[in-house]
Amino acid sequence: MNNADNPPSVREIRINPIIPSESVLVATARSMRPKKAEELVPRDTRSHVETCPFCRGNEHKTPPAILTIPNETNWDIRMVENLYPVLGDDRQDANLTFGLQQTIDGYGRHEVIIDHQNHGIALFEMSVSHLALLFQTYRDRMKVLYESDQRLKYVLAFKNFGPAAGASIPHTHSQIIAMPVVPQNVHDEVENSRAYFTKNNHCIFCSLIDEALTFEATIYDRNSGSVRRKMSVGQYVIEKGKKFIAIKPFASRFEWEIHILPLNHQADFMTVSNEDLEDFANVLQRSMARLDAVIGGAQYNYFLHTQPQGKEYQDCNASYHWHLEICPRTSIPTGFELGAGLSVNTISPEQAAEQLRNVKI
Ligand SMILES: [Zn+2]
Ligand SMILES: [Zn+2]
Ligand SMILES: [Zn+2]
Repeated sequence: MNNADNPPSVREIRINPIIPSESVLVATARSMRPKKAEELVPRDTRSHVETCPFCRGNEHKTPPAILTIPNETNWDIRMVENLYPVLGDDRQDANLTFGLQQTIDGYGRHEVIIDHQNHGIALFEMSVSHLALLFQTYRDRMKVLYESDQRLKYVLAFKNFGPAAGASIPHTHSQIIAMPVVPQNVHDEVENSRAYFTKNNHCIFCSLIDEALTFEATIYDRNSGSVRRKMSVGQYVIEKGKKFIAIKPFASRFEWEIHILPLNHQADFMTVSNEDLEDFANVLQRSMARLDAVIGGAQYNYFLHTQPQGKEYQDCNASYHWHLEICPRTSIPTGFELGAGLSVNTISPEQAAEQLRNVKI
């Protein structure tokens, strides 16, 4: 995978600074490689497929459109109800508790956004203005959904790309799920960053960005005096725009995981301006082009984490910081990972970051 000069192997558990329970075992020595690689499937690069329900001309094969941009026939982005929703508002069941078991009604909305009229286009091949429009669409739809029903606690925008990432239709698309609960990982991020803020009077995400841009450290071995660890400025930075930064997390769960965050503090994705989304789109497009150049045909999930609505989250404006997590799927999780609740990453985040940063795009 990497150059021949045998980079030092790493075998350590790295603590996620925001959610310590989501820590990662980084184990790069070859003998430690316990994971099976995801099968690389060639990307469907056709621009139009006669039988595809998401291609232009086949609009009658999907549920009715919720939204078409810029118009119904020559649309660039089209939003429809999901034919197989995981949550719905077609029936209302009461929440139940019996013994130790508890249920919450699976109330919500599940919508599909056909990202682009071009069937097989990869994200990095889309224009920056198109990507900005796509994220504007997420933002505007979130607002409409939150305003439509007080019972909706969180609206998750995400994308699955490739069969390994769970995409069942090859035409490029993303999804929005409005949920009656705040996802546990978002809740944990919010609560832990709130606790950090109470203690340090600073947003932990902003602190991590500052660290990525300015921090430098060398740790020496006390006995031999040799260098045990060196951290250099910008070591984890993949891309930097005027308003956004793409970072390789120190405790990356996935080998090629990248997070994109606004450089200036902002808790709620719904408050991002169109102008800022242009810069975001540029950073996203370049990051995805880097991923493609390094691993080729990446199958991935991305998802937006933003300040949840609702009273109990109102005061986390200063402590929470929205971001996009991009998780390329290059290996299948093992029983050890599921059983131990610990992700295993077999490529050191430092080397992955270096490769992503240095590759020509
Ligand atoms: Zn299609
Ligand atoms: Zn912040
Ligand atoms: Zn997150």
